[in-house]
Amino acid sequence: MRDAVGFLRAEYDELVRADLDWKLRVLAGPSAPWCDIDGKRVLMFCSNNYLGLSNHPKVKAAAVAAVQSHGAGSGSVRPIAGTMDLHVELERRLARFKQAEASLVYQTGFATNAGLIPQLAGDGDLIVSDELNHGSIIDGVRLSKADKAVYKHGDAADLARVLDQAEAHAPAYRRLLVITDGVFSMDGDIAPLDKIAKLGRDHGAMVYVDDAHGEGVLGDGGRGIVSHFGLSRDEVQVEMGTFSKAFGVVGGHISGSRDLVNFAYNKSRTWLLSGSHPPAVAAACLAAVDVLEHEPEHVERLWSHTRRFKKAMAALGFDLGRSETPITPVIVGESRSAKALSQRLYELGVFALPIVFPMVAKDKARIRTIMNAALSEDDVQFAIAAFEKAGRELKLI
Ligand code: PMP
Repeated sequence: MRDAVGFLRAEYDELVRADLDWKLRVLAGPSAPWCDIDGKRVLMFCSNNYLGLSNHPKVKAAAVAAVQSHGAGSGSVRPIAGTMDLHVELERRLARFKQAEASLVYQTGFATNAGLIPQLAGDGDLIVSDELNHGSIIDGVRLSKADKAVYKHGDAADLARVLDQAEAHAPAYRRLLVITDGVFSMDGDIAPLDKIAKLGRDHGAMVYVDDAHGEGVLGDGGRGIVSHFGLSRDEVQVEMGTFSKAFGVVGGHISGSRDLVNFAYNKSRTWLLSGSHPPAVAAACLAAVDVLEHEPEHVERLWSHTRRFKKAMAALGFDLGRSETPITPVIVGESRSAKALSQRLYELGVFALPIVFPMVAKDKARIRTIMNAALSEDDVQFAIAAFEKAGRELKLI
């Protein structure tokens, strides 16, 4: 008899043996600067809640009020009976914030990439993707029937080579789509979007940027990477993002032309076929956009903490890779070292998880730290002191 389910246990056991299974850490309470994680009070140093908005009084109050006024759920998918005034207002306000003609909100960032990318390019088209793009982009690309090509990470010259080759393809490609992360989540480096946009213009390619880690961080008042480079919507046609990081809630989104949004919501299967955000989520996202518009000090604080942390860590002799943003990897080499450092940091009161092979190269295991505007200067100093102590004990510096 065939064993229908034996693989479940076998494959899990194999992950455990290789120490590659996810050991879930549990927060009792909010994602705040100081958290209770697995029963210990620690400084949160690896959440994507860059600006502390998940815990902002206005954002929380908006969620509570929306439950009272609109209920717990939306009742449907957006195209049937699940579009509420809150969803429409959120899209209007997001477009204003992004200085775009229109915005569209999806359930998550993953659902955005997986739902939209395969509609933008199909049979007879070519998608060109940075080799280190996020998994949700990779899955979106996989769902497309287009030809696929990859260029070297952050390398505009290599992208030019790939696009030149594409010009010679017979029969000629109908459409070219170039996709890149804005800020790369493992290294904290910024895509050369200005150069990519120019290549897009030269080759008649559509440019799609996933700004999940750039919004709330880069650009004027945290408006993101398109603002950071001062680019226009004609040069970067799709600016994609998420409400799950700096905005502190959950949800994906795109901003661009009205044509893009009309196309996207009529075609993206994830948007059409999956329930819409509960009112509390839409209202909390709306409040988060409002906070970003009116309280730019959170973004300034994020950067002042980031500069301080990077400077002190570099002076201590840590390898911070090529980071240019509040994502600061502390690269220590072998997986074993990264795990030991993370464990020691936890004991010392700092929560920052290791990123190891196969997520990064074997000799580039790291602790990925993410700065947070809600920390105090003393908190940042506390983290630096913990890294110094653990780093010396483990002979990493
Ligand atoms: N793109 C990037 C670059 C991301 O880092 C993430 C989240 N890890 C996503 C997309 C997915 O966003 P969401 O959490 O909203 O699904």
